[in-house]
Amino acid sequence: MASDDLLQFDRDHLWHPYTSTTNPLPVYPVASAAGVRLRLTDGRELIDGMSSWWCAIHGYSHPALIQAIREQSERMAHVMFGGLTHEPAVELARLLVRITPEPLDKVFLCDSGSVSVEVALKMALQYQQAVGRPEKHRLLTVRGGYHGDTFHAMSVCDPVTGMHTLFERSLPGQLFAPRPNCRFDGAWDASDLAVMEQLLADHHRETAAVIIEPIVQGAGGMWFYHPEYLRGLRRLCDHYQVLLIFDEIATGFGRTGVLFAAEHAGVAPDVMCVGKAITGGTMTLAATLATTEVATAISNAPPGVFMHGPTFMGNPLACHVACASIRLLLETPWQARIAAIGRQLTEELAPARDLPTVADVRVLGAIGVVETRQPVDMAVLQQFFVEQGVWIRPFGRLLYLMPPFIIEPQDLARLTSALVRAAALVH
Ligand SMILES: *Cc1c(COP(=O)(O)O)cnc(C)c1O
Repeated sequence: MASDDLLQFDRDHLWHPYTSTTNPLPVYPVASAAGVRLRLTDGRELIDGMSSWWCAIHGYSHPALIQAIREQSERMAHVMFGGLTHEPAVELARLLVRITPEPLDKVFLCDSGSVSVEVALKMALQYQQAVGRPEKHRLLTVRGGYHGDTFHAMSVCDPVTGMHTLFERSLPGQLFAPRPNCRFDGAWDASDLAVMEQLLADHHRETAAVIIEPIVQGAGGMWFYHPEYLRGLRRLCDHYQVLLIFDEIATGFGRTGVLFAAEHAGVAPDVMCVGKAITGGTMTLAATLATTEVATAISNAPPGVFMHGPTFMGNPLACHVACASIRLLLETPWQARIAAIGRQLTEELAPARDLPTVADVRVLGAIGVVETRQPVDMAVLQQFFVEQGVWIRPFGRLLYLMPPFIIEPQDLARLTSALVRAAALVH
Protein backbone atom coordinates (compact mmCIF):
# COMPACT_ATOMS: atom_id res chain seq x y z
CA MET A 1 0.00 0.00 0.00
CA ALA A 2 1.32 3.42 -0.91
CA SER A 3 1.96 5.42 2.21
CA ASP A 4 -0.48 8.19 1.14
CA ASP A 5 -3.35 5.68 0.93
CA LEU A 6 -2.34 4.18 4.23
CA LEU A 7 -2.29 7.56 5.96
CA GLN A 8 -5.61 8.59 4.41
CA PHE A 9 -7.36 5.41 5.56
CA ASP A 10 -5.76 5.79 8.97
CA ARG A 11 -7.09 9.36 9.24
CA ASP A 12 -10.56 8.29 8.15
CA HIS A 13 -10.98 5.16 10.26
CA LEU A 14 -8.46 4.65 13.04
CA TRP A 15 -8.44 5.87 16.57
CA HIS A 16 -4.93 6.37 18.03
CA PRO A 17 -4.27 6.69 21.78
CA TYR A 18 -5.97 9.79 23.22
CA THR A 19 -6.89 11.28 19.85
CA SER A 20 -9.72 12.94 17.99
CA THR A 21 -11.23 11.52 14.80
CA THR A 22 -12.12 14.98 13.52
CA ASN A 23 -8.85 16.72 14.28
CA PRO A 24 -6.21 13.98 14.39
CA LEU A 25 -2.55 14.83 14.97
CA PRO A 26 -0.15 13.60 12.29
CA VAL A 27 1.06 10.00 12.59
CA TYR A 28 4.17 8.54 10.95
CA PRO A 29 3.99 5.21 9.09
CA VAL A 30 6.58 2.67 10.28
CA ALA A 31 7.60 -0.17 7.97
CA SER A 32 9.99 -2.05 10.24
CA ALA A 33 12.19 -1.74 13.30
CA ALA A 34 15.54 -3.24 14.28
CA GLY A 35 17.94 -2.50 17.13
CA VAL A 36 17.20 1.05 18.29
CA ARG A 37 15.94 2.19 14.88
CA LEU A 38 12.42 2.63 13.54
CA ARG A 39 12.32 2.68 9.74
CA LEU A 40 9.56 4.81 8.22
CA THR A 41 7.90 3.80 4.93
CA ASP A 42 9.76 6.62 3.14
CA GLY A 43 13.07 5.06 4.20
CA ARG A 44 13.92 7.55 6.95
CA GLU A 45 15.30 6.06 10.17
CA LEU A 46 14.52 7.31 13.65
CA ILE A 47 16.55 6.49 16.77
CA ASP A 48 14.06 5.34 19.38
CA GLY A 49 14.09 7.12 22.74
CA MET A 50 10.77 5.71 23.97
CA SER A 51 11.23 1.90 23.81
CA SER A 52 7.64 1.94 22.51
CA TRP A 53 6.19 3.17 25.78
CA TRP A 54 8.99 1.66 27.84
CA CYS A 55 8.59 -1.95 26.66
CA ALA A 56 11.28 -2.65 24.04
CA ILE A 57 14.19 -2.92 26.48
CA HIS A 58 16.27 -5.09 24.11
CA GLY A 59 15.49 -2.94 21.07
CA TYR A 60 13.50 -4.27 18.12
CA SER A 61 13.71 -7.57 16.23
CA HIS A 62 16.14 -9.08 18.71
CA PRO A 63 17.13 -12.52 17.34
CA ALA A 64 16.51 -14.29 20.67
CA LEU A 65 12.98 -12.93 20.86
CA ILE A 66 12.21 -13.66 17.20
CA GLN A 67 13.45 -17.20 17.80
CA ALA A 68 11.21 -17.60 20.85
CA ILE A 69 8.13 -16.41 18.94
CA ARG A 70 8.94 -18.76 16.07
CA GLU A 71 9.44 -21.80 18.31
CA GLN A 72 6.29 -21.27 20.31
CA SER A 73 4.07 -20.36 17.35
CA GLU A 74 5.02 -23.68 15.76
CA ARG A 75 4.10 -25.58 18.95
CA MET A 76 0.91 -23.66 19.83
CA ALA A 77 0.12 -19.98 19.75
CA HIS A 78 -2.69 -20.26 22.25
CA VAL A 79 -4.75 -22.62 24.35
CA MET A 80 -7.27 -21.73 27.03
CA PHE A 81 -5.90 -21.60 30.59
CA GLY A 82 -9.07 -22.92 32.23
CA GLY A 83 -8.34 -26.55 33.06
CA LEU A 84 -5.13 -26.61 31.00
CA THR A 85 -1.57 -25.56 31.69
CA HIS A 86 1.69 -25.45 29.73
CA GLU A 87 5.42 -25.01 30.08
CA PRO A 88 5.61 -21.35 28.97
CA ALA A 89 3.24 -20.25 31.77
CA VAL A 90 4.98 -22.42 34.37
CA GLU A 91 8.46 -21.25 33.33
CA LEU A 92 7.37 -17.59 33.38
CA ALA A 93 5.84 -17.97 36.84
CA ARG A 94 9.04 -19.68 38.03
CA LEU A 95 11.12 -16.74 36.77
CA LEU A 96 8.78 -14.10 38.20
CA VAL A 97 8.63 -15.73 41.63
CA ARG A 98 12.44 -15.98 41.63
CA ILE A 99 13.22 -12.38 40.66
CA THR A 100 10.45 -10.44 42.47
CA PRO A 101 10.59 -9.53 46.19
CA GLU A 102 10.56 -12.58 48.47
CA PRO A 103 7.01 -13.04 49.78
CA LEU A 104 5.37 -12.72 46.34
CA ASP A 105 4.81 -16.26 45.16
CA LYS A 106 1.39 -16.56 43.54
CA VAL A 107 1.13 -15.39 39.93
CA PHE A 108 -1.98 -14.32 38.01
CA LEU A 109 -1.21 -13.88 34.29
CA CYS A 110 -3.23 -11.28 32.43
CA ASP A 111 -3.31 -9.50 29.11
CA SER A 112 -2.34 -5.90 29.81
CA GLY A 113 -1.17 -3.55 32.51
CA SER A 114 -4.61 -2.07 33.17
CA VAL A 115 -6.06 -5.55 33.61
CA SER A 116 -3.28 -6.49 36.03
CA VAL A 117 -4.21 -3.41 38.09
CA GLU A 118 -7.91 -4.40 38.02
CA VAL A 119 -6.86 -7.86 39.20
CA ALA A 120 -4.72 -6.40 42.01
CA LEU A 121 -7.59 -4.20 43.20
CA LYS A 122 -10.05 -7.10 43.04
CA MET A 123 -7.60 -9.23 45.06
CA ALA A 124 -7.43 -6.51 47.73
CA LEU A 125 -11.22 -6.24 47.95
CA GLN A 126 -11.74 -10.02 48.00
CA TYR A 127 -8.98 -10.40 50.61
CA GLN A 128 -10.54 -7.90 53.01
CA GLN A 129 -13.93 -9.61 52.70
CA ALA A 130 -12.29 -12.98 53.20
CA VAL A 131 -10.62 -11.94 56.45
CA GLY A 132 -13.87 -10.52 57.79
CA ARG A 133 -13.34 -6.83 57.10
CA PRO A 134 -15.92 -6.22 54.31
CA GLU A 135 -16.21 -2.54 55.29
CA LYS A 136 -12.70 -2.07 53.86
CA HIS A 137 -13.74 -1.39 50.27
CA ARG A 138 -12.06 1.89 49.30
CA LEU A 139 -8.62 2.51 47.86
CA LEU A 140 -6.03 5.06 48.86
CA THR A 141 -3.32 6.39 46.59
CA VAL A 142 -1.23 9.48 45.87
CA ARG A 143 -1.76 12.25 43.35
CA GLY A 144 0.35 12.20 40.21
CA GLY A 145 -0.11 8.47 39.69
CA TYR A 146 -0.99 6.51 36.58
CA HIS A 147 -2.40 2.99 36.76
CA GLY A 148 -4.19 2.46 33.44
CA ASP A 149 -7.33 3.41 31.55
CA THR A 150 -9.98 0.89 32.67
CA PHE A 151 -12.47 2.09 35.26
CA HIS A 152 -11.08 0.97 38.60
CA ALA A 153 -7.52 1.61 37.44
CA MET A 154 -8.63 5.06 36.28
CA SER A 155 -10.19 5.77 39.69
CA VAL A 156 -6.70 5.67 41.26
CA CYS A 157 -5.00 7.75 38.53
CA ASP A 158 -4.32 11.41 39.23
CA PRO A 159 -7.79 13.00 39.37
CA VAL A 160 -6.76 15.98 37.23
CA THR A 161 -4.62 14.41 34.49
CA GLY A 162 -6.81 11.28 34.68
CA MET A 163 -9.83 13.47 33.78
CA HIS A 164 -11.98 12.20 36.64
CA THR A 165 -14.58 14.92 36.07
CA LEU A 166 -15.47 13.35 32.71
CA PHE A 167 -16.48 10.08 34.38
CA GLU A 168 -17.48 11.39 37.78
CA ARG A 169 -20.86 9.62 37.78
CA SER A 170 -19.35 6.20 37.16
CA LEU A 171 -16.02 6.33 38.99
CA PRO A 172 -15.68 5.07 42.55
CA GLY A 173 -14.45 7.93 44.75
CA GLN A 174 -11.06 7.01 46.15
CA LEU A 175 -8.81 8.69 48.72
CA PHE A 176 -5.82 10.77 47.59
CA ALA A 177 -2.72 11.87 49.47
CA PRO A 178 -0.41 14.50 47.92
CA ARG A 179 2.32 13.38 45.57
CA PRO A 180 5.43 12.32 47.53
CA ASN A 181 7.51 15.47 47.66
CA CYS A 182 11.06 14.49 48.68
CA ARG A 183 13.30 13.82 45.71
CA PHE A 184 14.84 10.39 45.22
CA ASP A 185 18.34 11.82 45.64
CA GLY A 186 17.43 14.57 48.10
CA ALA A 187 17.08 14.72 51.88
CA TRP A 188 14.23 12.85 53.58
CA ASP A 189 11.67 14.90 55.47
CA ALA A 190 9.31 12.80 57.60
CA SER A 191 6.51 15.33 57.07
CA ASP A 192 6.25 14.01 53.51
CA LEU A 193 4.15 11.14 54.89
CA ALA A 194 2.00 13.28 57.20
CA VAL A 195 -1.13 13.50 55.02
CA MET A 196 -0.93 9.83 54.08
CA GLU A 197 -0.64 8.99 57.77
CA GLN A 198 -3.63 11.18 58.63
CA LEU A 199 -5.74 9.69 55.81
CA LEU A 200 -4.97 6.19 57.05
CA ALA A 201 -5.71 7.17 60.65
CA ASP A 202 -9.06 8.65 59.59
CA HIS A 203 -10.10 6.12 56.94
CA HIS A 204 -8.37 2.80 57.66
CA ARG A 205 -11.67 1.15 58.61
CA GLU A 206 -12.96 1.64 55.08
CA THR A 207 -9.63 1.26 53.22
CA ALA A 208 -8.76 -2.04 51.55
CA ALA A 209 -5.40 -1.12 50.04
CA VAL A 210 -2.92 1.56 49.14
CA ILE A 211 -1.79 1.40 45.51
CA ILE A 212 1.32 3.28 44.40
CA GLU A 213 4.01 3.26 41.72
CA PRO A 214 7.20 2.64 43.73
CA ILE A 215 9.95 5.32 43.42
CA VAL A 216 9.01 6.45 39.89
CA GLN A 217 5.65 7.94 39.02
CA GLY A 218 5.52 7.36 35.27
CA ALA A 219 2.83 8.68 32.93
CA GLY A 220 1.37 10.81 35.75
CA GLY A 221 4.44 13.08 35.86
CA MET A 222 7.77 11.23 35.58
CA TRP A 223 8.58 12.03 39.21
CA PHE A 224 11.23 10.20 41.29
CA TYR A 225 10.63 10.20 45.05
CA HIS A 226 12.48 9.17 48.20
CA PRO A 227 12.70 5.45 49.16
CA GLU A 228 11.98 6.34 52.80
CA TYR A 229 8.41 7.15 51.71
CA LEU A 230 7.84 3.50 50.83
CA ARG A 231 9.39 2.25 54.05
CA GLY A 232 7.08 4.51 56.06
CA LEU A 233 4.11 3.51 53.94
CA ARG A 234 4.82 -0.19 54.51
CA ARG A 235 4.82 0.38 58.29
CA LEU A 236 1.56 2.35 58.14
CA CYS A 237 -0.18 -0.29 56.00
CA ASP A 238 0.87 -3.05 58.40
CA HIS A 239 -0.32 -1.03 61.37
CA TYR A 240 -3.75 -0.34 59.86
CA GLN A 241 -4.32 -3.76 58.21
CA VAL A 242 -4.36 -2.20 54.77
CA LEU A 243 -2.77 -4.07 51.85
CA LEU A 244 0.08 -2.43 49.94
CA ILE A 245 0.02 -2.77 46.15
CA PHE A 246 3.05 -1.77 44.07
CA ASP A 247 2.40 -0.99 40.43
CA GLU A 248 5.77 -1.88 38.85
CA ILE A 249 4.38 -1.89 35.31
CA ALA A 250 6.63 1.00 34.23
CA THR A 251 9.53 0.38 36.60
CA GLY A 252 9.91 -3.40 36.39
CA PHE A 253 12.69 -5.30 34.61
CA GLY A 254 15.62 -2.99 35.27
CA ARG A 255 14.46 0.45 34.13
CA THR A 256 15.42 2.24 37.37
CA GLY A 257 18.78 0.44 37.75
CA VAL A 258 17.45 -2.40 39.92
CA LEU A 259 15.19 -5.21 38.68
CA PHE A 260 12.15 -3.82 40.53
CA ALA A 261 11.97 -0.32 42.00
CA ALA A 262 10.82 -1.70 45.37
CA GLU A 263 14.43 -2.83 45.84
CA HIS A 264 15.54 0.81 46.21
CA ALA A 265 13.53 0.89 49.44
CA GLY A 266 14.09 -2.72 50.49
CA VAL A 267 10.38 -3.26 51.07
CA ALA A 268 8.00 -5.78 49.57
CA PRO A 269 4.33 -5.21 48.75
CA ASP A 270 1.46 -7.64 49.35
CA VAL A 271 0.46 -7.47 45.70
CA MET A 272 2.51 -6.34 42.71
CA CYS A 273 1.68 -5.58 39.08
CA VAL A 274 4.17 -6.05 36.25
CA GLY A 275 3.70 -5.53 32.51
CA LYS A 276 5.17 -3.31 29.81
CA ALA A 277 8.76 -4.63 29.43
CA ILE A 278 7.80 -8.19 30.46
CA THR A 279 7.91 -9.50 26.86
CA GLY A 280 10.65 -7.11 25.72
CA GLY A 281 8.00 -5.16 23.83
CA THR A 282 6.91 -7.99 21.54
CA MET A 283 3.53 -9.13 22.86
CA THR A 284 0.87 -7.83 25.20
CA LEU A 285 1.18 -9.49 28.62
CA ALA A 286 1.16 -8.56 32.29
CA ALA A 287 1.00 -10.30 35.64
CA THR A 288 -0.25 -9.70 39.17
CA LEU A 289 1.75 -11.32 41.94
CA ALA A 290 0.47 -11.86 45.47
CA THR A 291 1.77 -13.26 48.73
CA THR A 292 0.68 -16.69 49.93
CA GLU A 293 -1.14 -14.96 52.77
CA VAL A 294 -3.32 -12.93 50.38
CA ALA A 295 -3.95 -15.88 48.07
CA THR A 296 -4.74 -18.29 50.90
CA ALA A 297 -7.19 -15.94 52.57
CA ILE A 298 -9.03 -15.40 49.28
CA SER A 299 -9.12 -19.11 48.56
CA ASN A 300 -10.30 -20.17 52.03
CA ALA A 301 -13.37 -17.94 52.10
CA PRO A 302 -16.54 -18.03 50.00
CA PRO A 303 -16.78 -18.35 47.02
CA GLY A 304 -13.43 -20.15 47.48
CA VAL A 305 -11.94 -18.85 44.24
CA PHE A 306 -10.45 -15.65 42.89
CA MET A 307 -13.06 -14.19 40.54
CA HIS A 308 -11.17 -13.37 37.36
CA GLY A 309 -10.23 -15.24 34.16
CA PRO A 310 -9.58 -13.48 30.87
CA THR A 311 -9.93 -15.40 27.57
CA PHE A 312 -6.27 -14.94 26.66
CA MET A 313 -4.97 -15.58 30.18
CA GLY A 314 -1.52 -17.17 30.13
CA ASN A 315 -1.20 -16.94 26.34
CA PRO A 316 1.65 -19.39 25.56
CA LEU A 317 3.20 -17.24 22.84
CA ALA A 318 3.39 -14.20 25.12
CA CYS A 319 4.62 -16.30 28.09
CA HIS A 320 7.35 -17.97 26.07
CA VAL A 321 8.70 -14.74 24.63
CA ALA A 322 8.49 -13.18 28.14
CA CYS A 323 10.72 -16.00 29.44
CA ALA A 324 13.16 -15.35 26.60
CA SER A 325 13.17 -11.60 27.30
CA ILE A 326 13.70 -11.99 31.04
CA ARG A 327 16.48 -14.56 30.53
CA LEU A 328 18.12 -12.29 27.97
CA LEU A 329 18.00 -9.43 30.46
CA LEU A 330 19.48 -11.52 33.27
CA GLU A 331 22.23 -12.90 31.00
CA THR A 332 23.38 -9.45 29.84
CA PRO A 333 25.32 -6.98 32.02
CA TRP A 334 22.14 -4.95 32.46
CA GLN A 335 23.22 -3.12 35.65
CA ALA A 336 26.37 -1.81 33.99
CA ARG A 337 24.50 -0.84 30.83
CA ILE A 338 21.77 1.02 32.71
CA ALA A 339 24.35 2.73 34.91
CA ALA A 340 26.24 3.87 31.79
CA ILE A 341 23.02 5.15 30.18
CA GLY A 342 22.24 6.98 33.44
CA ARG A 343 25.67 8.63 33.58
CA GLN A 344 25.42 9.76 29.95
CA LEU A 345 21.87 11.08 30.46
CA THR A 346 23.00 12.98 33.56
CA GLU A 347 25.94 14.56 31.75
CA GLU A 348 24.24 15.36 28.45
CA LEU A 349 20.89 16.61 29.81
CA ALA A 350 22.61 18.86 32.38
CA PRO A 351 22.94 21.83 29.95
CA ALA A 352 19.10 21.98 29.79
CA ARG A 353 19.14 23.16 33.43
CA ASP A 354 20.44 26.54 32.28
CA LEU A 355 17.60 27.11 29.82
CA PRO A 356 15.00 29.68 30.92
CA THR A 357 12.30 27.33 29.54
CA VAL A 358 13.31 24.45 31.85
CA ALA A 359 12.01 23.89 35.39
CA ASP A 360 13.86 20.69 36.30
CA VAL A 361 16.16 17.97 34.99
CA ARG A 362 16.26 14.53 36.64
CA VAL A 363 17.73 11.13 35.87
CA LEU A 364 17.24 7.73 37.46
CA GLY A 365 18.49 4.50 35.91
CA ALA A 366 17.76 4.61 32.19
CA ILE A 367 15.16 7.39 32.55
CA GLY A 368 16.05 10.99 31.73
CA VAL A 369 13.50 13.78 32.24
CA VAL A 370 13.53 17.46 31.29
CA GLU A 371 10.53 19.24 32.79
CA THR A 372 9.65 22.50 31.05
CA ARG A 373 7.89 25.51 32.55
CA GLN A 374 5.17 25.59 29.89
CA PRO A 375 3.32 22.67 28.26
CA VAL A 376 4.95 21.48 25.06
CA ASP A 377 3.22 21.72 21.68
CA MET A 378 3.22 18.03 20.87
CA ALA A 379 2.57 18.38 17.13
CA VAL A 380 5.38 20.91 16.68
CA LEU A 381 7.90 18.98 18.74
CA GLN A 382 6.97 15.66 17.16
CA GLN A 383 7.79 17.04 13.74
CA PHE A 384 10.99 18.63 15.05
CA PHE A 385 12.15 15.30 16.48
CA VAL A 386 11.37 13.37 13.29
CA GLU A 387 13.35 15.95 11.31
CA GLN A 388 16.23 15.37 13.74
CA GLY A 389 16.04 11.62 13.08
CA VAL A 390 14.86 10.67 16.57
CA TRP A 391 11.65 9.30 18.07
CA ILE A 392 10.74 11.13 21.26
CA ARG A 393 7.14 11.67 22.36
CA PRO A 394 6.72 14.34 25.01
CA PHE A 395 3.54 15.04 26.99
CA GLY A 396 2.38 17.91 29.17
CA ARG A 397 5.51 19.66 30.47
CA LEU A 398 7.64 16.55 30.13
CA LEU A 399 10.33 15.74 27.63
CA TYR A 400 11.81 12.41 28.54
CA LEU A 401 13.96 9.52 27.31
CA MET A 402 13.55 5.82 28.13
CA PRO A 403 15.78 4.24 25.48
CA PRO A 404 16.26 0.50 24.91
CA PHE A 405 19.03 -0.81 27.20
CA ILE A 406 21.11 -1.84 24.15
CA ILE A 407 21.54 1.73 22.89
CA GLU A 408 25.11 2.75 21.93
CA PRO A 409 26.58 6.00 23.30
CA GLN A 410 26.62 7.77 19.90
CA ASP A 411 22.89 7.05 19.35
CA LEU A 412 22.03 8.13 22.89
CA ALA A 413 23.99 11.35 22.27
CA ARG A 414 21.72 12.10 19.29
CA LEU A 415 18.66 11.65 21.50
CA THR A 416 19.97 13.88 24.29
CA SER A 417 21.10 16.64 21.94
CA ALA A 418 17.71 16.68 20.16
CA LEU A 419 15.95 16.75 23.53
CA VAL A 420 17.99 19.67 24.86
CA ARG A 421 17.46 21.62 21.61
CA ALA A 422 13.71 20.92 21.80
CA ALA A 423 13.57 22.09 25.42
CA ALA A 424 14.87 25.48 24.26
CA LEU A 425 11.95 25.72 21.79
CA VAL A 426 9.19 25.34 24.41
CA HIS A 427 7.62 28.68 25.29
C1 LIG B 1 1.37 1.71 31.32
C2 LIG B 1 0.99 1.58 32.73
C3 LIG B 1 -0.20 0.95 33.13
C4 LIG B 1 -1.22 0.44 32.14
O1 LIG B 1 -0.74 -0.57 31.33
P1 LIG B 1 -1.45 -0.90 29.93
O2 LIG B 1 -0.70 -2.08 29.42
O3 LIG B 1 -1.29 0.33 29.09
O4 LIG B 1 -2.88 -1.20 30.23
C5 LIG B 1 -0.45 0.83 34.48
N1 LIG B 1 0.42 1.29 35.40
C6 LIG B 1 1.57 1.89 35.06
C7 LIG B 1 2.50 2.35 36.13
C8 LIG B 1 1.89 2.07 33.73
O5 LIG B 1 3.03 2.69 33.39
